[in-house]
Amino acid sequence: MNLFNVYPLYDVTPVKAKGCFVWDDKDRIYLDLYGGHAVISVGHSHPNYVANLKHQIETLGFYSNAVQNPMQVELAEKLGKLSGYENYELFLCSSGAEANENALKLASFHTNKSRVIAFKNGFHGRTSAAVAATDNPSIIAPINKQQATTILPLNDIALVKKELKKDDVCAVIIEGIQGVGGLDEGTTTFFQELETACKRYKTVLILDEVQSGYGRTGKFFAHQHHNIKPDIITIAKGMGNGFPVGGVLISPKFDASFGLLGTTFGGNHLACAASISVLDIIKNENLIENTNTISEYFISEIEKFPKVKKIKGRGLMIGLEFDFEVGEMRKKLIYDYNIFTGGAKDKNVLRILPPLTIKKEHIDVFINALKEILD
Ligand code: PLP
Repeated sequence: MNLFNVYPLYDVTPVKAKGCFVWDDKDRIYLDLYGGHAVISVGHSHPNYVANLKHQIETLGFYSNAVQNPMQVELAEKLGKLSGYENYELFLCSSGAEANENALKLASFHTNKSRVIAFKNGFHGRTSAAVAATDNPSIIAPINKQQATTILPLNDIALVKKELKKDDVCAVIIEGIQGVGGLDEGTTTFFQELETACKRYKTVLILDEVQSGYGRTGKFFAHQHHNIKPDIITIAKGMGNGFPVGGVLISPKFDASFGLLGTTFGGNHLACAASISVLDIIKNENLIENTNTISEYFISEIEKFPKVKKIKGRGLMIGLEFDFEVGEMRKKLIYDYNIFTGGAKDKNVLRILPPLTIKKEHIDVFINALKEILD
């Protein structure tokens, strides 16, 4: 049987990884500034993370739902404390798409409305709001016809209000910082006015922090740079440092009831072991602080490159915008300099999403490579 060929792959076969580095089957070492679509938060094969997962698999392994799992409670408590959302409730699932799908469902149940507003170049996984960061019209079509999604330009609050006034919108979904699209971000004024407008028109505000969450932008959640409190926050990616896990943080104004949401794999013991380890490591190793320190250094070094037209994003979720497409440069970085980086829908943007454990000396390796390539 062949693989269903739906995305291109680089010709690299990783066999081992540690910290910010990945080894391939030819024993070449790569600096990982991409973390497999931003999932590596605490570094590859962190010893505490590995030990906890190993212990879990040797004892209870994958047992999933329908029985008491105190690890879910521990995870919710630690996540509440570290994120500042202690009074929200947590629903666990297994991916970013699933988290968003559940968030949209909750919004629809809660408001008895069905239309969704999302933003141009946003990306919310292959969900019924799987909209804008793709040019593929088959993905833009809503899965559930009743849950049509309207795409608006980012930062145009007048247009959002015009749609909300129609009183058929259950949710506005927005990323803290756009990932796949190319690192665009709502302004603080836009986020704050959006929060107010959603309250006024009884629409649920969903912050998709699947990529921008878990300390990546220098605060636990990217929306916390704008001093707002959304009704629902979705998480995944860095949450499990590579283990497939996702979650929905739900404000106390939503009432839980049996059967409202459900899952088979969500919150299983291994997923909890991975997620708890990540939170402990972020806290104990001050990784949010490290994110800010390294980000500052990285940006100050990048500012010396006149060929970088714009530095986008925050923390260690950074986009370098050039006035040319970066595809060839990414190939050079990976094959000639052994550095993983990411692309975006905006083909002129190079995405940098390293583990939050990264050090200045690793940044220097990238800076030197970029110097040689751009010269
Ligand atoms: N939301 C955002 C902001 C994402 O970047 C992604 C994936 O890239 C998703 C949702 C979907 O997550 P998953 O691929 O885990 O379904």
